[in-house]
Amino acid sequence: MIDIHGLIKDFGVTRVIDGIDMTVSEGEVVVLIGASGSGKSTFLRCLNGLETLTAGEIVIESVLLERNPKSLKQIRREVGMVFQQFNLFPHLTVLGNIIEAPVHVLKQRKNDAIQVALELLTKVGLSDKQDSFPGTLSGGQGQRVAIARALAMHPKIMLFDEPTSALDPELVGEVLTVMKQLAEDGMTMIVVTHEMSFAKEVADRVIFIDEGRIVEQGPPSQIFGDPQEERTQAFLSRFS
Ligand code: ADP
Ligand code: MG
Repeated sequence: MIDIHGLIKDFGVTRVIDGIDMTVSEGEVVVLIGASGSGKSTFLRCLNGLETLTAGEIVIESVLLERNPKSLKQIRREVGMVFQQFNLFPHLTVLGNIIEAPVHVLKQRKNDAIQVALELLTKVGLSDKQDSFPGTLSGGQGQRVAIARALAMHPKIMLFDEPTSALDPELVGEVLTVMKQLAEDGMTMIVVTHEMSFAKEVADRVIFIDEGRIVEQGPPSQIFGDPQEERTQAFLSRFS
């Protein structure tokens, strides 16, 4: 479903992504781990067409990601993204946030979009919040709305960039539960997170990135139970 070859991304003279090759299958859940500054966010942003590539190529569903409006539009439709800061529109209700892109980008009829939005709100456990404004929600609720908003575009792939890092600890679980459900429903997902228990439980594959390169990857049992590389061991020792 995703094919990445020789991906390189420089910011000025700094090489942030240094030759990543990766293939992700349909329905696979890949968790990316790595230290701050190792290039995880930049990598996800490349996948969503938010960064120009210095070199290499990304193919999603047999479509080459190119810097033209048509390609970018298609990629952004197929690839949903949820960020640490979920950036809901403050002046729109929860429902308004979720139907905004389906109505204005996908040109869905408003009533159809509302129907889907209400189903998604039920799915993320917030069916009673449709008329609330973002400012009145907890961080965990806001992030679940952000997930529903991304899902309303019917993406084939979901990217998550540290979706629980900004949340109070007691709110992390409700967001991870929604993500776990999504994984069980068969969504193809790439998740950057420091929640190692989530990675152990939900990931099909864990990839450790350091200095813009894949250092080591494998099933969670192998990466957490028997990491082969010294840098992986050093990174993981911080979490035990
Ligand atoms: P991570 O998400 O793993 O913490 P990032 O992808 O955010 O890492 O950042 C990797 C490196 O790229 C960091 O050194 C960061 O300062 C740099 N970087 C990220 N975005 C930009 C940018 N827009 N311009 C210049 N440098 C950037
Ligand atoms: Mg980051």
